[in-house]
Amino acid sequence: MSETKAAVAETRLISLGDEIVARINQLGAISETPEHLARIFLTAEHRVAAELILSWMREAGMSAHLDAIGNVCGRYEGERANLPCLMLGSHYDTVRDAGKWDGPLGLITAIACVADLNKRSKRLPFAIEVIGFADEEGVRFASTLLGSRAVAGTFVESVLNSRDRADVSMREAMLQFGLDPEHVGAAARARRELLAYVELHIEQGPVLEQKNLPVGVVTAIAGATRLAAHLTGMAGHAGTVPMALRRDALSGAAECIVAIEEFCKTDQAGLVGTVGYIDAMPGATNVIPGRVNFTIDIRAPTDGHRKLAVADIVRRIEAIAKRRNLTLQIDVTHENRTVPCASWLKTQVAEAVAAEGYDVFELPSGAGHDGMAMIDVADVAMIFVRCRGGISHHPDEHVELADAEAGARVLLRLVENFRPRD
Ligand SMILES: [Zn+2]
Repeated sequence: MSETKAAVAETRLISLGDEIVARINQLGAISETPEHLARIFLTAEHRVAAELILSWMREAGMSAHLDAIGNVCGRYEGERANLPCLMLGSHYDTVRDAGKWDGPLGLITAIACVADLNKRSKRLPFAIEVIGFADEEGVRFASTLLGSRAVAGTFVESVLNSRDRADVSMREAMLQFGLDPEHVGAAARARRELLAYVELHIEQGPVLEQKNLPVGVVTAIAGATRLAAHLTGMAGHAGTVPMALRRDALSGAAECIVAIEEFCKTDQAGLVGTVGYIDAMPGATNVIPGRVNFTIDIRAPTDGHRKLAVADIVRRIEAIAKRRNLTLQIDVTHENRTVPCASWLKTQVAEAVAAEGYDVFELPSGAGHDGMAMIDVADVAMIFVRCRGGISHHPDEHVELADAEAGARVLLRLVENFRPRD
């Protein structure tokens, strides 16, 4: 490469990161309230954000439109019209009091990559589509992945009847937004239209930072099982019932919680377990707790491993309950499968990471992502970008400019060298 050419390439790549960060800030300013970032599905902020993203897509040389559920969709044709596409994207809704990067980084980086190709008048032997999912977090209607489920053709119609806190149904909210709830199906895509779905996203955890790496190759989106446990003993007077005669449900729960933690700690294959909620009844200083409810969240990179772990944990809790003469009831309240990243795609992501000069490091995603829905319509891969302190779903969420740049370089290289599955 000549010196001038090298200098041009360098300028181009540096401006990629600068623009990504500028746009993260621009999108991050579109919020329900200025103090706490919240961009919720089918609100005025959703509309303003969608218009801004569509304008970026058009500026990057894409045709762009809002689909039947409010996703933003951009398309950059390949060497010929109507070729199947490599789909890139992420979501642009947020949780409440969110950070600016969760979702938008993947979407904005994908647009930046297309803009770069367009600037160089480069067409590929496939189309590129960029999608911004309207609802991934599920804040408003307590049902996640609404945007990607619509695209994957797995949107559940009954969700249209669910209501937000102001008692507005999703059906009504769609009508107010100018979308037709009867036509969500029009957002669905066919498998033959998609060569793959690739999402760049912040890690939302501390592993890349600890490894001192800007990017990572995701192996799988971990499946999760959530359980609700109910322990019943006998309430009694804190002063009169001798220790040996007690059936204290809260002490029993405490032993269960520690047992879950110990069990997960000794696991070497990425198992994580969390008790994040507990309540005790009757809940008074001078009464022995007679009844306790707590939740258990178990995640692992493979379904088989998670299921074995759940069975083992349940056995341990049962044994504790039995020994303490407590009645135990356990219900599965939520279960989602592990979504493995396709190995043929993962190989190409790893090649792009290595070609950019970074160590190839693989890690599972403990958090859920749109790929969990997209797997029903395409093979999926993910690239993680380091975020400061692993902090996410929090205003302190932060990505360094150099890491945004690194992510963009990897994604652009992946796109330019992408080979569809044989
Ligand atoms: Zn996200």
